[in-house]
Amino acid sequence: MSTPQKFDIYYDSKMPNDGWLQSCIVCDIITSKLHFYKNVTFGTTIKVNVDIYSYLCSTCKKKLNNKDIFEIYETNCEELITNITIKDQSNQSHQSP
Ligand SMILES: [Zn+2]
Repeated sequence: MSTPQKFDIYYDSKMPNDGWLQSCIVCDIITSKLHFYKNVTFGTTIKVNVDIYSYLCSTCKKKLNNKDIFEIYETNCEELITNITIKDQSNQSHQSP
């Protein structure tokens, strides 16, 4: 198994896409903090292993043990994952599973 790709998820904001500041997935505040969400395997014949990281501010991170906050976080992450496309080493695109 090769090393997983790393993919950052966030909602589009006014921030540049290649910057290191994006809006927090839960509260929309601008943050540089990334929080590991989960590992996802993309692709069917070719498997691409991806570690998904979400932009999450430290305030929301502390609140993840709250069930309601965690549900918002999880729902938003899943929604964002649905829309991402991953490229493998041969530059072939793979949709989320
Ligand atoms: Zn937040």
